[in-house]
Amino acid sequence: MSIEVVGLTKRFGTFVAITDVSLRVETGELVALLGPSGSGKTTLLRVIAGLEIPDAGSILFDGQNSTDRRIADRRVGFVFQHYALFRHMSVFENIAFGLRVRPRDRRPTRADIEQRVHRLLDLVQLEAMADRFPSQLSGGQRQRVALARALAVEPQVLLLDEPFGALDAKVRKELRRWLRRLHDDLHVTSIFVTHDQEEALEAADRVVVMNQGRVEQVGTPSEVYARPATPFVYDFLGDVNLFRGRIERGKAYIGPLEFDAPGHADREARIATLYIRPHQLEIDRVGNGEQQFRARVARVNPAGPFVKVDLVAEWGDPVRVELSQERYLALALEAGTEVFVRPKDMSIFIA
Ligand code: ATP
Repeated sequence: MSIEVVGLTKRFGTFVAITDVSLRVETGELVALLGPSGSGKTTLLRVIAGLEIPDAGSILFDGQNSTDRRIADRRVGFVFQHYALFRHMSVFENIAFGLRVRPRDRRPTRADIEQRVHRLLDLVQLEAMADRFPSQLSGGQRQRVALARALAVEPQVLLLDEPFGALDAKVRKELRRWLRRLHDDLHVTSIFVTHDQEEALEAADRVVVMNQGRVEQVGTPSEVYARPATPFVYDFLGDVNLFRGRIERGKAYIGPLEFDAPGHADREARIATLYIRPHQLEIDRVGNGEQQFRARVARVNPAGPFVKVDLVAEWGDPVRVELSQERYLALALEAGTEVFVRPKDMSIFIA
C-alpha cells in the first residue's frame, strides 16, 4: 500500500509542530523519518497513523483519502519505543491478542491463530520463548515480540516510532539489520522514526530528513549523505568541518588559500561556507604549494576502523581529518606534528 502525505500541517495550540509536509512512500518501501529531537517526526508518524488529526493537508493510502478514516480501518501496525507488551500475558498470547479481539465474523479459528503465531515466532526467532512472560525477556527480545504482535494482524502499513531507541548500541545495530532483512522478506510498506543517522542510512530505502517541522530533504541514503541539499542535512548526517570563506569565478577562498569550486563559475564574489567531511581531507607531510593549508596535529585517536586526527589550522580553527590506518602509519603522526591539509572534495553553501 502506498502512502501519500500532501501539505500536512499540525499545530498544538499556537505551536506549529509540522508545517506543509508532503511526502510519498511507495508500496513495499522502508522509509526513515530522521531528525533531531522536536523536529516533528513522531507527530508526522502519528498523523499518518490516524492518532492525531491534522490542521491542514491530507493523507492518501493507495490514492484514497484516508484523513477521516477510522484508525481501525487503516490496517496499520504500530511499534513504539517502549514495547508496550501486556505484562500478564505470555509471548504467545501477546502476539495472538490482536487476532483474538477481532469481531467474531473476522476472527480466525483457534487453529489458524495458533499456526499464525508460530509462524511469527519463527520469523522473529523466538520460538523457544513462546511461554515466557515479557519480564523474562531481554529488551531486544521484547522489541521483537512487539514487532511480531504488530505483524500478526497483517497490516498493510507498519509504523515504528524509535523502535530500538531504548536499547544499547550493539543490540540496536543487530536489530536494525534484522529489521532490514525482515522487511526484505515481507515487503510491508514501513515508516520508522529515528534520530540516529547511522540507523536511518543503514536500514532505510529512503530517508526523510526533518528539521523544525519541515522536510529538508528526501532521498536514498547515498543521495542525502553524498549530496546534502542544505547545510542542515550536511551537518546532521555526520561529522563536518565548516570553513568560512568566499567564492568568486569558480574558485573558493579560505583566507589566502584558493581551491577549485566548479559549479560556482559565474557568480560574483560571495561569502560562502565550505562544508568538508573529515574523510574528504588529506594530510601530507610535505607541501606541494597547491590547494593546501598548514596545520598542527593536536590529538590522534586511532581506535576504530579509521584514525581521527584533530588539528589546528594555520588561522587557529580546529579541523578534523579521518584517515585509513595505513595512511596514518605512513604519515607517522603525533601531537605537535606540522602537516599540510588538502581538501579532496567539498560542498559549498552560499551564506
Ligand atoms: P523526539 O525525537 O524528541 O521524539 P520528534 O521529532 O519526534 O522528537 P515530536 O514529538 O513530533 O518531535 O514533537 C514536535 C514538537 O511538537 C515538539 O516541540 C513537541 O514539544 C511538540 N509537541 C508534540 N506533541 C505535543 C502535544 N501533544 N502538545 C503540545 N506540543 C506537542
